[in-house]
Amino acid sequence: MTTTTTFSIPYGKQNITQDDINAVVETLQADFLTQGPKIDEFETKFADYVGSKYAVAVSNGTAALHLCALALNVNEKSKVITTPITFAASANCIKYCGGEVIFADIDPKTALIDLEKLEELLKSNPKGTFDGIIPVDFMGLPVDLEKVKKLAEEYGLWIIEDACHAPGGYFIDSKNKKQNCGNGNYADLAIFSFHPVKHIASGEGGMVTTNDKNLYDKLIKLRTHGITKNPDLLQENHGGWYYEMQELGYNYRIPDILAALGVSQLSRAEEMMQKRQEIAKRYDEAFKDTKIQFFQYPKDSIFHAYHLYVIQIEDRKGLYDYLRENNIFAQVHYIPVHTMPYYQTLGHKKGDFPSAENYYKSCLSLPMYPTLTEEEQNFVIEKILEFVGK
Ligand SMILES: *Cc1c(COP(=O)(O)O)cnc(C)c1O
Repeated sequence: MTTTTTFSIPYGKQNITQDDINAVVETLQADFLTQGPKIDEFETKFADYVGSKYAVAVSNGTAALHLCALALNVNEKSKVITTPITFAASANCIKYCGGEVIFADIDPKTALIDLEKLEELLKSNPKGTFDGIIPVDFMGLPVDLEKVKKLAEEYGLWIIEDACHAPGGYFIDSKNKKQNCGNGNYADLAIFSFHPVKHIASGEGGMVTTNDKNLYDKLIKLRTHGITKNPDLLQENHGGWYYEMQELGYNYRIPDILAALGVSQLSRAEEMMQKRQEIAKRYDEAFKDTKIQFFQYPKDSIFHAYHLYVIQIEDRKGLYDYLRENNIFAQVHYIPVHTMPYYQTLGHKKGDFPSAENYYKSCLSLPMYPTLTEEEQNFVIEKILEFVGK
């Protein structure tokens, strides 16, 4: 007998509760739709969650990256290093400011930027060649920023941590201290996204976190057209109405309505993280004696936030298609950024980063979201085992 199924299972999905809906409705009925009190609350609570001094809420994760690049004065002369296995926005923010993107290949064991290759790249160029680095906590796996910071200090680089996949992730540093992704202890700035597939959903939304007051002040100004009303920062003051546009900024604000949703979601962050960990454990267990390859990293010092659960399998397309036939919509993260037609027009070529390109051939992100039921997950596992054989 064949089992028929009514499942339709995506790789990621938001989790909206009645409390979330109430929070949005309350804000709709309050005095501010944008630039209201929920933004401050979201910022304060998010900074508290990741352990940073400051947080700046913005319209989306890409705007967060752009503001960071602007605050760090990225320009036509800048050269910035990032990984090819990320969402294009991690690199695009440098292009927005006219800078050059330099990729460094990944470590096949983790799919994160390879810190040895990074060091080789830095060593083989005169000091001062590069301005900064954007490490990405891909999948939710935290980059060892203590090591990145050491290199950054030696070579005079700033760090923007792209932590879109990793709110709630952390690593243990050499002093045995827990370092939350985005806490600003080793990076100058960190960014997050609240797109519906991410840990915390606000529809569209993003956040920058930092411990640097100067950068914080710049971000606040750049988020609203480069305008300030802060009496301490004004060059003149004509009265209560007076403001100055001091530099060219943008409108990258998040509406209060969405910040209210963010606050409500954030209050369940730990509960939702727990669900992700349980799902990951069940997959780990189910695939441990199969030909599916796992990532290798020290589990006692790195806490994976599991935005994605990625497996590597030789016949990736076969499995992807087979799952689709069964209404399981696995996804591929990511097509290497340097192979995108746009980046090829800038001189990057296929073949430049063999580990990233190899990884791309075999990677597949399985359904991973807090409301995935055990029954649904068992169905996913059953279909995968059917395909790969035991
Ligand atoms: C989602 C994401 C972004 C962009 O965030 P948006 O809110 O969609 O603009 C940037 N970097 C990474 C790694 C992401 O996953």
